[in-house]
Amino acid sequence: MAKTYSNKINKIRSFALAMIFVGFVIMYGGIFFRESPIIMLIFISLGMIALMFSMVVYFWIGMLSTKAVVVTCPNCEKPTKILGRVDMCMHCREPLTLDPDLEGEEFNEDYNKKNKAVRAANKPE
Ligand SMILES: [Zn+2]
Repeated sequence: MAKTYSNKINKIRSFALAMIFVGFVIMYGGIFFRESPIIMLIFISLGMIALMFSMVVYFWIGMLSTKAVVVTCPNCEKPTKILGRVDMCMHCREPLTLDPDLEGEEFNEDYNKKNKAVRAANKPE
């Protein structure tokens, strides 16, 4: 199972960029319905919604970036941002973790989801 992981912030950013393109394509599609203003208006409105949505996503990235931890990648020695417990280097895709318990473990994005369960298992009280 070859699943490729990428840095979360980069992933969200490329998603927002894709939404901008989708928005423009939808609005451009409206040109083909110039004869019927209602359909054209629907296309333009849908395109506007997509553009607005991508702006919201960009805003969200900005919020996430402030919460992300900036570290220097041990592999390529460039500064990168980590979001969550495990993330990838933005430049070389080196898996990075903030949790010493997970150090040396195989990279798995599920660690972010099973946050509480994993922590409880590792720290018996
Ligand atoms: Zn790196």
